[in-house]
Amino acid sequence: MLTDTYKRPLRDLRISVTDRCNFRCTYCMPLDEYDWIDKREILSFEEIARVARIFVRAGVEKLRLTGGEPLVRTNVERLVAELAPIEGLKELCLTTNGSLLAEKAAALKAGGLKRINVSIDTLDAEKFRRMTKRGDLGKVLEGLFAAKNAGLDPIKINAVIERGVNDGDILDLVAFAREHGFTMRFIEYMDVGNANGWTSTKLVPKKEIVEIIHRRFPLKEVGRSQGSAPAVDYEFADGGGRVGVVASVTEPFCSTCNRARLTADGKLVTCLFSSAGHDLKTRIRSGASDDELFDFIAGIWRSRTDRYSAERLEAMRSSNYDPKTHKKIEMITLGG
Ligand code: SAM
Ligand code: SF4
Ligand code: SF4
Repeated sequence: MLTDTYKRPLRDLRISVTDRCNFRCTYCMPLDEYDWIDKREILSFEEIARVARIFVRAGVEKLRLTGGEPLVRTNVERLVAELAPIEGLKELCLTTNGSLLAEKAAALKAGGLKRINVSIDTLDAEKFRRMTKRGDLGKVLEGLFAAKNAGLDPIKINAVIERGVNDGDILDLVAFAREHGFTMRFIEYMDVGNANGWTSTKLVPKKEIVEIIHRRFPLKEVGRSQGSAPAVDYEFADGGGRVGVVASVTEPFCSTCNRARLTADGKLVTCLFSSAGHDLKTRIRSGASDDELFDFIAGIWRSRTDRYSAERLEAMRSSNYDPKTHKKIEMITLGG
């Protein structure tokens, strides 16, 4: 089995299909303009599918399409249809802001997608507009219910919680998800990228999120799915489903991190907080064989030493963590 220097296997690949997005969430991509990747540098669906098959050969069981906003990539359902049948693949997922989901849900389902994550940080339309800078909550909810009607299941709702912004919206989101059969996943606000001006004062720790929910909807901890999932899951004591919390900052899970990322322009990135990736695209476009690409990927994974969130927590505890000193790849390029 292929493992890295901490004996972590390679099991999960997040594929960014575009760095572009029609939202400008303040915690992710707050600037109006970025140095967008030139269209010619973006991997084609055929290139992505080829690389995905090689990753599955190397041990990957789960693929997640992300971005940027994956649904702004034209005909992304065609890519879904190419990836879904890959032999050995156990799960194919997609994370979206939901804005184009009403038009796309049925085609994604028909292409072989089974499950989906939709990001919704608040159910207050005006706050939603402020947080995403461009988003229309009504359109996103329409997409969410279109996904449900198309039979996508499970449907998870991702919400990043930022202190003083939407920490008062946690219970509304939980009640909404329980009522409609969705699963809420709260995400601690992270210092991804370089532009969101993250400080630890904006962070609402997992412990506090869980306490807020537990007071209103008593919870029982279930743990991490397969022992390695980013989210810690909780069950509602009344049988009303589950809720998960991703605590990348306060309870890092680097010791079990089995995730790699493929950027839209074909770079392999081994950590969400990496400052650079490894160029697969040039190798693909200069005629490398599948075996050569496999060896390249395997070599990178074998030498992987990443444990950024664990190191950040150690630094935060000794009060010498400054997010600005570490230049990272923007999340939109990486795929969150
Ligand atoms: N555009 C899609 C979306 O918003 O779902 C997919 C890409 S987005 C980068 C993937 C996930 O990362 C979203 O759920 C988003 O909320 C989350 N995210 C973005 N910036 C974050 C941050 N600073 N801290 C924690 N999560 C973040
Ligand atoms: Fe776009 Fe998703 Fe980032 Fe929001 S979180 S700016 S929707 S990529
Ligand atoms: Fe994995 Fe890097 Fe996140 Fe740690 S910080 S869990 S190594 S992606």
